Amino acid sequence: MSQFGIFGREVDADTTATHEKLLAKRQPIPPEEMDYPKHIFKALEALREPRRTYIGASSLGYGLKCARQLWYRQRRDYDMEGRVLRLLDHGNSEEDRLIRDMRKAGIQVTGEQLEYKVGKLIGHIDALVVDPVHGLENLEVKTSNKKRYIDLVEAFKGGDKGKHKKALEGWRIHNAQMQLAMGALKLKSTLYVLICKDNDELHFERVPFDKAFFAELVAFVETVSHWQDDTLPARAVELPDQFGVCMWCPAFDECWDNKIDFNW
Ligand code: SF4
Repeated sequence: MSQFGIFGREVDADTTATHEKLLAKRQPIPPEEMDYPKHIFKALEALREPRRTYIGASSLGYGLKCARQLWYRQRRDYDMEGRVLRLLDHGNSEEDRLIRDMRKAGIQVTGEQLEYKVGKLIGHIDALVVDPVHGLENLEVKTSNKKRYIDLVEAFKGGDKGKHKKALEGWRIHNAQMQLAMGALKLKSTLYVLICKDNDELHFERVPFDKAFFAELVAFVETVSHWQDDTLPARAVELPDQFGVCMWCPAFDECWDNKIDFNW
């Protein structure tokens, strides 16, 4: 005779009895004996890749917000919490998942990540996509929480004030990455995909190549390549901008000489 056990799977009576005996014997593990999240996060911290020695396309974005922040990031090894490392890796998994789903839908998405160079900058694109109308395009996949997702999608539809303006300012860093890739690989457009982490909604936005912005970025890469250890760039702000430019800056204490305690 059979019955439904855990997970709704059909199991026979003997198996159920064995499960029950095992469950009865089980002793709860005191949390202090095995703190699983702590162990996982520590392992990720230990396995973290060393700081890049080249100028990366994504790190250049920090420099668009504040050149000094990029200067620090290129010269210091800031610790990153395991939780944050896991969060960053989440973006990579979402990228793979989306490419898989695009292929299931019959969309041609080619190859793995491709490397490109702009002066001393090295970047990688997520993939190339073949659009029936626009031909070969760069594919850039990003994830976002629901609030930022809504703000950015509305901003793409033409909002240019308040939160929309702020969303577009933040997006400039993604755009810089895309423009560098398009310029280096001679592509006319990028298919920018935004995935909402809260509900898996997808937004596709076609971003054209912007020659003027690309030229600006090439000039900035050139400047960054010539930075010396003793030429600290100016701060982007005159006063600590806790909720703007300086938010999440790992160099905050050093930059402001440890004189400000925001207690964030
Ligand atoms: S704390 Fe602010 S001003 Fe200083 S480097 Fe960071 S972002 Fe720039």
